[in-house]
Amino acid sequence: MVLLTRRTMQVVLQFHGDLTFFLPADSRRQPIRRPLHEKTSIKDVIEACGVPHTEVDLILCDGSPVEFSHQLTDDAEIDVYSPFGSPQEFAANQLQQRGITKFVADGHLGKVARNLRLLGLDVAYNATADDTALLEISAREKRALLTRDRRLLMHAIVRDGYCPRSDSPEEQTVEVIRRFNLHALLAPFSRCLTCNGTLEPVSKAEVLTRLEPLTKIYYQNFRHCMVCGKIYWAGSHFGKLQSRIRRIRNAVGSQRDTDN
Ligand SMILES: [Zn+2]
Repeated sequence: MVLLTRRTMQVVLQFHGDLTFFLPADSRRQPIRRPLHEKTSIKDVIEACGVPHTEVDLILCDGSPVEFSHQLTDDAEIDVYSPFGSPQEFAANQLQQRGITKFVADGHLGKVARNLRLLGLDVAYNATADDTALLEISAREKRALLTRDRRLLMHAIVRDGYCPRSDSPEEQTVEVIRRFNLHALLAPFSRCLTCNGTLEPVSKAEVLTRLEPLTKIYYQNFRHCMVCGKIYWAGSHFGKLQSRIRRIRNAVGSQRDTDN
């Protein structure tokens, strides 16, 4: 009698650069060996190690670049790179889109959303949006999903996204600008912090009836939100916001210097 047994495949994965952030503490010693009992997509194997596809910019399977849908049918050695530090010779095989400028942030990243809006970036944010709503707006409006929920980023519907590594909102803001290369797009004080609408200059006469008495006396220049109508001027908190913008820009700049 001949007994047919299906051979178990062995895949060996090496995660490069900052992708080790996602590996569970007990498997940060690489390479990671995983047995596979059936044909499996390379995306599923990578995500089973804890790394969302949104963080992966290049996959080499036995030295050759492959797509997320690549099916593993035999033993393989897999190298996985993030957008930071994938080898230049494979620039044509990058898996992440470039030129992303629209985002949706989950309810835990309110301060990041506010910082990004302060810098003029388009960020949808609703503190009470649930996972379904986040996935829907991300897909419908083609917004990259910002969340620290890796399971959410692994959802097949998510095309673009990012999981901030730091616990600090200011550092998380720097990370997002760096990850999506937004440095040249920053336009501070051009977007409403409350609703994400764009701000336009407005004459004092037009908003006079809505100003507090002291504001009427001390301020001459105003902007208003084209969506919710909120009025902005360089009031008492303006200096603090400017300092925050300067710190974020400096941090992005110093990291860019390190990258080059
Ligand atoms: Zn507004």
